Amino acid sequence: MSTEKVRVRFAPSPTGPLHIGGVRTALFNYLFAKKHGGDFILRIEDTDQARYVEGAEEYIIESLNWCNIPFDEGPGKEKDAGPYRQSERKGLYREYVEKLIASGNAYYAFDTSEELDQHRANHEAEGKTFIYNWHNRQKLKNSLSLPEAEVKQKIEAGETYVVRFKTPEDESLSLKDEIRGDMTIETKILDDKVLFKSDGMPTYHLANIVDDHLMKITHVIRGEEWLPSLALHVLLYRAFDWTAPKFAHLPLILKPQGKGKLSKRDGDKMGFPVFPLEWKDPKSGDSSSGYREEGYFPEAVVNMLALLGWNAGGGTEKEIYTLEELTQAFTLEHVSKGGSKFDPDKTKWFQHHYMQEANDEELAKDLVRLLEEKEISTSQEYAVKVVALLKERATFLSDFWDMGSYFFTAPENYDEKAAKKAWKEDTSELMDAVIQLLKETEDFTAENVQEKVKSWITSEGIGFGKVMQPFRLSLVGAMQGPDVFEIAAAIGKDETINRLKRAQEKL
Ligand code: GLU
Repeated sequence: MSTEKVRVRFAPSPTGPLHIGGVRTALFNYLFAKKHGGDFILRIEDTDQARYVEGAEEYIIESLNWCNIPFDEGPGKEKDAGPYRQSERKGLYREYVEKLIASGNAYYAFDTSEELDQHRANHEAEGKTFIYNWHNRQKLKNSLSLPEAEVKQKIEAGETYVVRFKTPEDESLSLKDEIRGDMTIETKILDDKVLFKSDGMPTYHLANIVDDHLMKITHVIRGEEWLPSLALHVLLYRAFDWTAPKFAHLPLILKPQGKGKLSKRDGDKMGFPVFPLEWKDPKSGDSSSGYREEGYFPEAVVNMLALLGWNAGGGTEKEIYTLEELTQAFTLEHVSKGGSKFDPDKTKWFQHHYMQEANDEELAKDLVRLLEEKEISTSQEYAVKVVALLKERATFLSDFWDMGSYFFTAPENYDEKAAKKAWKEDTSELMDAVIQLLKETEDFTAENVQEKVKSWITSEGIGFGKVMQPFRLSLVGAMQGPDVFEIAAAIGKDETINRLKRAQEKL
């Protein structure tokens, strides 16, 4: 690599929420930039005003921030290469398209959309596809076929036109992709793409190349869907006499079944989010779920995304990577060519892992907040205890409530099956004895309670299950949860006794 500073960009169009595939593209750009001490730029490609969606840009920025992959330059972080919204760079593109016209690399085309539709229909009727390029451009209405004076007159009269790229007629064009290697494209199959419209707006192709050049982008890392545009982009760099950046096209993310691209609509249909954050469509009001709101840690989402189409190579089985480790390990050579299946269960697996890594005090704080929403007040200290007892089995913060509500409120009901099995004729009497033992336990720790109850059971020669099962049922309401003595110690002596008495009344 040259000594030139690495500069990459993530260039989404604000047409809706950022799909998880877009987040992965941003992540790979971020990792590549950071690995090489370079800059990660966010450019908003909003030239297509018809597809602009309110709130999408904010959503994109919030998503990157939530994933802890912030951009170095972009809207709100203006540096020399700004502005970073194409709509704010509008004035700039005309100059460049005029250069291409002057050098004979682009031309005006006046064909109306009705005329083009007609051509398409005629071709279709003959079983052919209409392509606007070298083989027919002389027969169409453009500045290559019409006399110069007429072209001038049309433009002055304000006739609608587009500017098209004049694709070389017959060339074998060599292309290189950092992931896919070398390719050759025959230019004769390409069409003369529209670069600019008479409304003063550039198309994606022109704006993208001009901006990448002006922003000194060294590596274009983007989704595979842009691979078919690579030839045009390389030709444009050549036409401008600019050095092209390096290109890397990332593989598709496939549906969990492996067939077809994971689409924006798949997620909620298949029961998992395909967006980083929840999104509420400003027009329809429909909402789509997001990983953040579903309770995922950004670390889990980032780790999962990093391994979708990348591995550290060398046959490593390592799957858990911090962002820092990813930055160290990331290379484009180890990005795969083929698509990777999206695996929602694997995402949960990562989440469970990061839950185990999470700090108990922090989790407890979030748990206290969650309980407040349910109008249950609890102390930070108590929440830490509960977190420690349940964490091993928890994947999401909500699990602490879903699996452990009995730590905060006495059970309302008792699992019917368990009650039938655990609560017998003589159980109430046994529980009286247990209550008495508990009353006598001064220092109400799990060890002390256990010692007391167990030695009594042994000395009386009663079956353990006969006591322990109804004991657990009384405290929890079901046959689940961590060590019952830990539960008793956590909820305390009075509450433990109250719950035993309650069970005696109810069962
Ligand atoms: N605006 C394009 C998109 O939305 C960017 C493609 C590129 O990175 O060149 O995907």
